Amino acid sequence: MHRRKEFKASPDSVSKMLELEKNKKVNFLLGQIKGIEDLKNDKIKVITKNNEETENFEVDYLLPFFGLKMELGPIANWGLNLDENLIKVDTEKFETSVPSIFAIGDINTYPGKLKLILSGFHEAALMAQECFKYCYPDKKNIFRYTTSSKELQKKLTSI
Ligand SMILES: Cc1cc2nc3c(=O)[nH]c(=O)nc-3n(C[C@H](O)[C@H](O)[C@H](O)COP(=O)(O)OP(=O)(O)OC[C@H]3O[C@@H](n4cnc5c(N)ncnc54)[C@H](O)[C@@H]3O)c2cc1C
Repeated sequence: MHRRKEFKASPDSVSKMLELEKNKKVNFLLGQIKGIEDLKNDKIKVITKNNEETENFEVDYLLPFFGLKMELGPIANWGLNLDENLIKVDTEKFETSVPSIFAIGDINTYPGKLKLILSGFHEAALMAQECFKYCYPDKKNIFRYTTSSKELQKKLTSI
């Protein structure tokens, strides 16, 4: 079961799945799961919905694989400068259009953005520099390396 006909999986995996369906080895269903019930007889009742059509299936196993669907939720109403469903930031501080609100990771957007863990870490480091100024306006932020700073090493080992 998948919520739409199109798949983001690799073309090879998709064509293998479609081939299996063509040969009646798998039954592909369009729609979404709306409910599950334990039938207490080692079976599970799965309630599915496609548009307005509801169906029930009795199954032995259910293997859910969730995808990524980004939703801003209430953040969408915070008055931030959005680009479709993403939050626009500058690449110096990763601050949004509202001062002191920052956005890092997959949720932000800027020219050349790459949705990678690596990028998220880089953005976090730069964002933290700016956050420090908001939190400690009178203190000087001393840049240190974990490889050489005894103070940082002490902090990390005491956690
Ligand atoms: C299949 C796949 C493979 C990938 N492989 C790599 C790789 O090899 N190397 C690499 O660097 N990157 C990889 N990435 C990208 C990487 O996973 C992302 O860039 C990274 O996870 C983004 O981190 P994030 O914290 O910004 O967002 P996420 O990891 O998406 O975390 C956001 C969290 O916020 C939660 N959330 C969402 N909305 C709300 C809300 N309204 N309220 C509360 N919580 C909410 C979500 O449930 C989620 O837990 C891969 C991505 C995919 C999809």
